[in-house]
Amino acid sequence: MSHAFVKRVSFWACEESKTISPNSQKRIKKLKNSSPDQPRQKLSDAIYRLIYDSSINLPTDVYSALKELEKNETSALAKELYGSIFDNVKRAKEMNRPICQDTGALQFFIKAGTKFPYLDDVEDAIKAAVRRATKEIPIRPNVVETFEERNTGDNIGTRAPWMEWEIVPASSDLTVGVYMAGGGCSLAGRSKVLMPLEGYAGVVKFVFDTIVEWGVNACPPLIVGIGIGTCAPTAAALSKKALLRPLGTSNPNPKARDMEERIKKGLNDIGIGPLGMSGNSSVTGVNIEYAAHHPATIAVGLSVGCWATRRGSVTLDRNVDVKGEK
Ligand code: SF4
Repeated sequence: MSHAFVKRVSFWACEESKTISPNSQKRIKKLKNSSPDQPRQKLSDAIYRLIYDSSINLPTDVYSALKELEKNETSALAKELYGSIFDNVKRAKEMNRPICQDTGALQFFIKAGTKFPYLDDVEDAIKAAVRRATKEIPIRPNVVETFEERNTGDNIGTRAPWMEWEIVPASSDLTVGVYMAGGGCSLAGRSKVLMPLEGYAGVVKFVFDTIVEWGVNACPPLIVGIGIGTCAPTAAALSKKALLRPLGTSNPNPKARDMEERIKKGLNDIGIGPLGMSGNSSVTGVNIEYAAHHPATIAVGLSVGCWATRRGSVTLDRNVDVKGEK
């Protein structure tokens, strides 16, 4: 609420209290005590809490997948490393500290209902929440202004944090998803348009070549998100979408599901192991998302998440009350 507005309401209350009706007095009192900024503050608070929870707690699907891999591990070194990972997760929770020192570059995925009343405020609310998270959690200031090569200090910069919008017709809800893109796991990201005859075999080769060469840098076990489409940006965007899909779910297309399972088995057979120190597995999951493609081209995109994949989302209703969290 602006000072001018408070002053104006106070003025009315003072000057007119002797002459106006009790009902009007009540209305003026209500106006004085109400806060038009409250929904905006609630919005920013909810996004701050999302960042807080996501930086400190591992998503339940990632935690369960890691537990499963630990159970199937036979090498003493790999078991020891899983022990360190779970000790790290436990201590982060106990101490209210981020799971990893690299809290990533923040990326937001917004599903905006066309009837959500505060759409104009979402971008500012996200930036305010990011600034607060940088100071209070704290998360590491990771945003370096491109070309200037200067750390901005508050995780805000040109097009940072990254925001992707999806419009949801006839809905009054807002869902904000966050992904904390660490440096090591981002290093393995790739996107390429394959030569016309390379086909699906080319997709598989691209994934294996990349993970074999770069997977160890990305703090395995890895979540592998694969996107398939016509051109490099489409495939890249779909690979990130795949990464955001919970582990343990499959693509509904039986052919895509079959490819997910085969690639997962093949990558696990390589035996990269936890933190790249060898073991019985390499990945917690392989997810594929696709779009129909041009007859001459298939493009493949790859996004990789580390063992400390941090992502989450919050859904707010039209009153900016929390409706659901993931
Ligand atoms: S790859 Fe993941 S676990 Fe490794 S340093 Fe980066 S954010 Fe942390």
